[in-house]
Amino acid sequence: MTYSSPALIQVALDAPLDRLFDYLAPEATAADIGRRVRVPFGRREQIGVIVGLASATTVPQEQLRTAIAVDRNLPALPADILALARFAAGYYQHPLGPVLLSLLPPALKRAAFRAPPPAAYALTEAGHARAAALPARATAQLRLAERLIDGPVAAESLADLRTALLAWLKQGLACAAELPRPGQPADLPPTLTADQAAVLAAMTGHSGGFTAWLLHGVTGSGKTEVYLRLIEGTLNRGGQVLVLLPEIHLTPQMVERFGRRFPGRRLVSLHSGLNDGERLAGWLDGLTGRADIVLGTRLAVFAPLPRLGLIIVDEEHDASYKQMEGLRYHARDVAVWRARAADIPLLLGSATPALESWANAKRDRYRLLSLPERAHAEAELPQVRLIDSRTDKPKQGITEAMRQALADNLARGEQSLVFINRRGFAPVLYCRACGHVSQCPRCAAHQVVHRHRGGYQLRCHHCGLAARPPEACPTCGSLDLQPAGQGTQKVEDTLAELFPDARVLRVDRDTTARRGAFAAMREAIANREIDILVGTQIVAKGHDFPMLTLVGVIGADQALMSTDFRASERLFAQLMQVGGRAGRAAHSGRVLIQTEYPHHPLYAALVAHDYPAFAERTLKERRQAEFPPWSYQALLRCDARSMAEAMAFLETACTLGQDLADGVLLYDPVPALMPRVANRERAQLLVQSASRARLQRFLTPWIGRLREQKTASLRWSIDVDPLDW
Ligand code: ADP
Ligand code: ZN
Ligand code: ZN
Repeated sequence: MTYSSPALIQVALDAPLDRLFDYLAPEATAADIGRRVRVPFGRREQIGVIVGLASATTVPQEQLRTAIAVDRNLPALPADILALARFAAGYYQHPLGPVLLSLLPPALKRAAFRAPPPAAYALTEAGHARAAALPARATAQLRLAERLIDGPVAAESLADLRTALLAWLKQGLACAAELPRPGQPADLPPTLTADQAAVLAAMTGHSGGFTAWLLHGVTGSGKTEVYLRLIEGTLNRGGQVLVLLPEIHLTPQMVERFGRRFPGRRLVSLHSGLNDGERLAGWLDGLTGRADIVLGTRLAVFAPLPRLGLIIVDEEHDASYKQMEGLRYHARDVAVWRARAADIPLLLGSATPALESWANAKRDRYRLLSLPERAHAEAELPQVRLIDSRTDKPKQGITEAMRQALADNLARGEQSLVFINRRGFAPVLYCRACGHVSQCPRCAAHQVVHRHRGGYQLRCHHCGLAARPPEACPTCGSLDLQPAGQGTQKVEDTLAELFPDARVLRVDRDTTARRGAFAAMREAIANREIDILVGTQIVAKGHDFPMLTLVGVIGADQALMSTDFRASERLFAQLMQVGGRAGRAAHSGRVLIQTEYPHHPLYAALVAHDYPAFAERTLKERRQAEFPPWSYQALLRCDARSMAEAMAFLETACTLGQDLADGVLLYDPVPALMPRVANRERAQLLVQSASRARLQRFLTPWIGRLREQKTASLRWSIDVDPLDW
């Protein structure tokens, strides 16, 4: 197609307005669609993405501005990624511009670009000084670049330089200078178990093209081995593979395992823990087709991969696939859409599938596959036992039965894990005289007691505010203030008192915050330098600790009391996962759960390792209540300086939606479960429909109307398929 010059381009910009912007671009052609462009915007410049050419514009001639530069150094975003962004923007009701810009690695959102880099640059003096302080790897990269350019390399800052060089290297120059690979022999694949073979036969026997498979396999059943075989097949056919994983923490372990199996292939990981240069390099490897396997967290679902042949979503039930701000997408659901659009297979794997996925399998939208047993012949599923804490009363949170089991395990020289999903020392500071509990002054939340420099500190887990504990009760003046209840730190202390000779390690967000801390802990555990681990769900995810034979669970009952209808689903998944840590190899494991509700059906299903029973029962309850997956929801959230203001906006929103609501139910606005955070009052309005299509037809015009409202001092957002309340 040819356009009469000067061409008009439609540009997506990171602006809150849900529209595209027209610019003049004299030399632009259809080949520039998907390319970055620098344009004047107001009195500044912005980087945008060209999403189309136009033959006419409604912008008056005198206001029409000219684009400054089109980035032709980098390959354009391919059409399928533009389509994916359009889908995500439409489905999640978010403007296309911010969606598209958020797909780019951060380095490409900022980096200025001009003509291709000239043959020689000169590094400023300050730049040289900083270069001298670089780690060896970065220095090596610079040397490599200098060799390739055949002269000195330079830019205003070192960061700019590295970004520019990396981008430039990826354009092909680097092909001549392949970095040497460690010459590792490949891991030999094990002989498949009969169940694994059956799963693979079902998948490979199926005609090509799009199919969504749900692989339900108990922990240790060999799901990852199934992934590896499928990947091998796809790679042999020349395809790229995208593997999504829930946690950054997990990625190094998986990367190692994949790397050992496919030593000759280019493996790339993509997650937010990488620095800008690494992220850009990985992303470009995908885009140029050089990466064979991309392992990443949720953001990787948008990675451009021209030869994509298979998508795998591991632990597909994991809540971290849902982004909680900006574009509130669910990476699993985006993956389903992407696989369908690309007409390739998609595999979702989990020991405890999301009830949405289980229902989809029951409704034949997904095909169900299962691995009901552990892969190692000798590794049996752990024995799960309940401790009735009404009769065996806990002391400092630990029942006698639990203490005894820990003591026995210690005597045998085996590792134990005490799981409690609460970090800090104690959930509240409590006045024994009047019953006052510590309250965050900025939030409708308790302050949590944390150990701090030999004393205590009160911290709010919602706004982060930290304060010294008061000397006396702010209500009655009593000095009898006590930390009440258990957190990981207190359990750590209690265990140290009970077992003075044991080596106890606490693993929670507070102890793993530093980069590398988690890896060091994992190593200490693997080297058997630890006897008892105390941890939150962080330890539960996917780690293989062969010497761990006992898991004790405390404080789980709380989730049963929650007002969130998804709490029991989350609890079940968490306990299955944490229980799955016990006895992975030749040692059989035990799980002990302290509870005041030993007859609760959720625990009964856990004891029987019966996910399907739990799922069927919970789905039945959800059907009666018309909750998802039997309905589709969107949540309009609003926060303002006063609750009245927030509620008034939602009332208006309700009114604006009335005439659009065909087959869609608008609930009354209500204060949020956490009605105040950081001095902002929060309210919400739930919209629900039995039909996803109807909900979508309602949302688009409704959100359009809401965007026209003047909302100076309040903030609102729409969350489609919300997971949190
Ligand atoms: P999952 O991903 O379901 O937790 P993995 O694939 O990690 O399971 O397998 C669990 C353990 O069993 C690993 O140590 C793995 O090496 C081993 N394993 C997997 N498949 C086989 C097999 N066919 N034969 C022997 N061991 C296997
Ligand atoms: Zn008091
Ligand atoms: Zn707070």
